[in-house]
Amino acid sequence: MVTQNSLATEVHVLASGSKGNCTLIRRGESFILHDAGISCRRIVNGVKELGLEMHSLEGVFISHEHSDHIGGLQQLLKRFDIPVYTKQDTWRQIQSRLTVPNHNLVALTKGSLTIGNMVVEPFRVSHDAADPIGINVFAGDQKVTVLTDSGEVDDRMLRYLDDTTMLVLEANYDPHMLKFGSYDRFLKERVAGPQGHLSNDATAQALLMMKRPNFMQVILAHRSENNNNPVLVTQTIGNMLVQGGVRIGPEMKLQHGQPNECVSMVEVTK
Ligand SMILES: [Zn+2]
Ligand SMILES: [Zn+2]
Repeated sequence: MVTQNSLATEVHVLASGSKGNCTLIRRGESFILHDAGISCRRIVNGVKELGLEMHSLEGVFISHEHSDHIGGLQQLLKRFDIPVYTKQDTWRQIQSRLTVPNHNLVALTKGSLTIGNMVVEPFRVSHDAADPIGINVFAGDQKVTVLTDSGEVDDRMLRYLDDTTMLVLEANYDPHMLKFGSYDRFLKERVAGPQGHLSNDATAQALLMMKRPNFMQVILAHRSENNNNPVLVTQTIGNMLVQGGVRIGPEMKLQHGQPNECVSMVEVTK
């Protein structure tokens, strides 16, 4: 008998940061991956540690072709014949970098698609890649959003965030650290540009501007190792949220994504 609890929704950020990104979204026994930027071995181990089986993997979504998002994809597809959901232009870029079989591609077009017991809705983000996307995942009464690698969250993207209960959102850099850090001028402008990454301030703004449910969980992801640190993330975003009237704790649970450990959000049953 399938109980309500056995179909609980969980989000596990297996790795997050400029060295590799991979998030697992689970409903019951089936799950999907968002990005495969860590080794196949790490993905398989992460899946095992969560008590899941690789044959329950319904597919992998690829946000864009940068190596920290596709680093483990070639080996993953060599071992497991799973669909890869991404944009056609992104796939073209991936094929120029990796040996990946064409038959695995499921090219994303507009609108949402049903995968197993979840509905996934891709949406365009602003990043210096061929056709970068974020995703919404509708799973039971939960809405999961993964949005990293975007230089901004404009009004159109904000609407995709509305009412999300489990959010993986980039908080990449502190503007002061970036400005006075070791990157050259070109790289600084790239990171801070409209097709770069989200600053702590921009992330806090997005959290304040989006339509929030009564309670939501957030994992602050893709933190730069050079231009940010967890203390600054907590201070900047925490202060801005409190000033904006958000009660951290009762209304919002905040966690940090980590490069080398799994960080999880589990559906809260009321
Ligand atoms: Zn990127
Ligand atoms: Zn990235």
